[in-house]
Amino acid sequence: MTTVRVPAKINLCLGVGPLREDGFHPLATVYQAVDVYDEVKASAVVDDSLTITVHFDGDRAREAAAVPEDDDNLAIRAARLLRERTGTTEGAAIAIRKVIPVAGGMAGGSADAAAALVACNELWGTGLTRVELEVIAAELGSDVPFLIHGGIAMGGGRGELISPVLARGSYHWVFAIAAQGLSTKSVYAEFDRLTAEREVREPEVPGDLLAALRAGDAAALGEALSNDLTEAALSLRPELAATLDVGLECDALGAILSGSGPTSMFLARDDAHALDIAFALTSSRVCADVAQATGPVQGARLI
Ligand code: ATP
Repeated sequence: MTTVRVPAKINLCLGVGPLREDGFHPLATVYQAVDVYDEVKASAVVDDSLTITVHFDGDRAREAAAVPEDDDNLAIRAARLLRERTGTTEGAAIAIRKVIPVAGGMAGGSADAAAALVACNELWGTGLTRVELEVIAAELGSDVPFLIHGGIAMGGGRGELISPVLARGSYHWVFAIAAQGLSTKSVYAEFDRLTAEREVREPEVPGDLLAALRAGDAAALGEALSNDLTEAALSLRPELAATLDVGLECDALGAILSGSGPTSMFLARDDAHALDIAFALTSSRVCADVAQATGPVQGARLI
């Protein structure tokens, strides 16, 4: 049996360009992996079957209902693709312990796909390098290569083209998790609707964000956080504005939505400040759950 721990991702900036002919938007993003982890185990089976079970800690029935326990699960799709690319005929029983919020803009499904690639590569002895796994990962989804890579990295193309970023420091985050997830597809559709009459420029990673990361300056990073999907996500979920306000009232260094939302994320000065923000969010009842995390951390790794 092999076990892999895989982090969630956040986008420190998310620049979204005009819709491409293939239906994707060009993105210019900086990812950071944070220590909110799913765990994926792959066990040997006697035949070529690929099966999946998903376990949630605590009372998360609504989220559990949204995660498929069949061939549509991204972890199974990842294992299948690895089999196709390597020619192995082995099977596996895959078990996911889910902590990353579902449909929360933190790439939980993509994380499980990344973890399944690493876990099955080890279980089957297929021996692909991490770089080779990242190439297969890009076929599964825009965020999957980064979740193997981890740390902090720039994402170009539709997010799958990973390049290094000079960064120092460790950052303290607070996440406000909404009661109801938001589909990434619906947020992009709303983005297209809202920008139909406007010019959408080719996206770029802001220079001030890269300078803040180079310097390890949390206050400057907080100022530089940006997300082009904010307007679309708030148009679908206007109540998220109140959640962001709670963090700002606590002097969060920055407050934005994570990816396509609805998770809101707040940058804190240190652990004590993160605790203050978490407490304010919990007591103001603007979200269903609150989590604290730090980043950057490594990508999908065998444990
Ligand atoms: P992103 O940030 O990549 O846009 P997200 O974090 O908003 O994604 P996910 O939690 O990855 O959203 O899930 C999106 C949908 O993918 C789920 O509603 C579910 O139907 C499907 N899905 C397939 N496999 C998984 C998985 N292993 N975990 C979670 N969702 C999965």
